[in-house]
Formats: sequence, structure tokens, C-alpha cells
Amino acid sequence: MARRAGVPLLPMIKADAYGLGVEASVRALDPLEPWGYGVATVGEGEELRSLGVTRPIVVFTPLLKQELPRARAARLTPTLGFPEEIEAWKQSGGGAWHLSIDTGMSRAGIPWREVRSIRSLIESFSPEGAFTHFHSAELDDGTMKVQEDRFREAIATLPSRPRLLHTANSAAIARQGRSAWDLVRPGIFLYGVGSGRSAAIQPENVVNLRAPIVEIRDLEPGDTVSYGATLRVDRPARIATLAVGYADGYPRALSGSGSVLVGRTLAPIAGKVTMDMTMIDVTTINCAIGDVVTLIGRAREGDTVLTVERVGDDAGMSPYELLTGLRSRVERVYAGERS
Ligand SMILES: *Cc1c(COP(=O)(O)O)cnc(C)c1O
Repeated sequence: MARRAGVPLLPMIKADAYGLGVEASVRALDPLEPWGYGVATVGEGEELRSLGVTRPIVVFTPLLKQELPRARAARLTPTLGFPEEIEAWKQSGGGAWHLSIDTGMSRAGIPWREVRSIRSLIESFSPEGAFTHFHSAELDDGTMKVQEDRFREAIATLPSRPRLLHTANSAAIARQGRSAWDLVRPGIFLYGVGSGRSAAIQPENVVNLRAPIVEIRDLEPGDTVSYGATLRVDRPARIATLAVGYADGYPRALSGSGSVLVGRTLAPIAGKVTMDMTMIDVTTINCAIGDVVTLIGRAREGDTVLTVERVGDDAGMSPYELLTGLRSRVERVYAGERS
């Protein structure tokens, strides 16, 4: 990503690094010398400071007035758009801030067509940076260019060009060549999720979610599986129980629609995913208690990958929702730390 963009990275490590663990993610990213890190809340910024991060930390969700003293104490960089927000940060004795410009998300930031109205306010309290966020960078629908043009138009109305301009998320970096601006903000790509087959660069698989088989049983025709008995077998079947469930963040929506890798073979989920256990149909698959199956990621043997996107699709969830939904009960093992 860094090579492709040709400018320093502002990696997004909000939401505990998309559910993967912020401490290990910082350890992996810091050797790339990113310009700084992006988070969503003051609490996330404070956590990074307590981990010893000294680089700039930009908070991308708008903050309420009462949060500003904490943001200042942790030397965080807020993103501000509306005059009241900018005034409040200035009054609180605030330091560096980035101007948040809305070019089509209608989520945060000042609408691009109103940027000229804050010109004089900015003249006396200028932002270190300015940015916008794309709503459909993973699509080739021309909207990225529309948003980029609006951004350029808005920047031109400022009294001076902020030093750090940035627009690109992962999909934009993967699709565009060298960045036209000063920083890029990759998120999900860092965690192993690409932005479609047509993107110029693809990430390696990063996340593997695995669980052991803890029981195996043989069913007779008419036997039922899991809550609601939604699966009733009409033939002899073999069912294995995995020690993983929706309380681990393995989506209940995969009931009856998902599958897992037992060795290199896909085994369908049998009946409803429960809180702590999930049953799979292994009638035609050789396996034993203690075998470890792969629910997301690369099979332990061979190189079949059950991608985050595929599992998300099966669950009717975005890959972002799937990753950030993984719960703390799942023990994290980081590559290079395996004993
Ligand atoms: C989350 C986020 C990103 C990263 O988006 P990805 O699609 O994960 O690359 C970039 N910019 C902002 C403002 C964000 O909130």
C-alpha cells in the first residue's frame, strides 16, 4: 500500500484494529514508519498513548465539547468541520486538527459547498490537514472522481492549503495509482480484505479463525440438530461439534448457510449456530475429536482460503462487520509469537 500510494500512511486502527488487536497491529505497522494512526474515539487514542505510541493520532469521529479536554491531554488530533466545533477546540486551547469535509457521505464534516463560509475562522486557526472520505471507492462507478473534485474545489476556497491533505481509504489506494495528496488512510486491506477482483493489488490472507472438534456423533434418520430442530436428517449422518459460537463473534446468521474447512474439505454448518458451539456435517469427511477446523482464513494444510468476504457473504454481513464482531473470548495468536 505504501509503495503504491507513494506517500506516508495513516493506518486506520480504530475498533481495536478492526477486531484484530490494536497492540499487535501497532507492533506490525510501526516498522513501516507511518505518519500517524487513525482511531474513532478518545478512549482508543488514550489506549494508544498508554501503549507508548508517540506519533500523531487522528480521531475521525466528531467529538462532543466535553470530550475535548481529554483529547487535548492525550495530544490527539481531532477532525472538525462545523464552526462551533472549531471554535470549541480553539477555546479549549487545542492543538493540531484536521478539517473534515463531507463530499457525499453525509456522515461527518462540513459539506464541501459550505467550506468557504469558514474561511475567516480558519484564517486565524488553520488546520494541519484536511480530508474527505469516499462512499463507494470499491466500485468503478465514477463517484470517487466526483468526490475528489468536490474536495479539490473546497480546498481551493481555503485561505491556504493545509499541509496534509488525504482522501484515500484501502479501496481507493488499491484502485488509484500514486496518491495526488499527502497521506493515505488504509484500513481493511491491512487486515487481509481486498476491494474486489479488479483492484490492482490484493492483500495476503491475514486472519485465521479456528476451533477444535470436541465431539462427534452418528445420527439416524429423523434425528434433529440444534435449537429449533431446524435440521432433521433423512439419512444416517455424522455430526461434529465445534467449540465456537456466536458469543465468539461467529455469526448466528451462518446457521444453515455457512461452511468450514475440515482439512481441505468444506463441511456445511448443520442447524443453528449456538452461543458456544456450532455443529457441522462431516458424514463424508474423515475427522476426529481434537482436529482443528478453519472457520475463516487459510486451511491448516494446503492453501484453500475461506475468505472474510466469503464468510461475510454467507452471513449477509460486510467483511468489516464480521471482523469487528470477533469477540475477546477468541484467543489471539499472532504470527511470530507462536511458541
Ligand atoms: C475507517 C476509515 C478508513 C479506512 O477505510 P477502509 O475501507 O477500511 O480502508 C479511512 N478513512 C476514514 C475516515 C475511516 O473512517
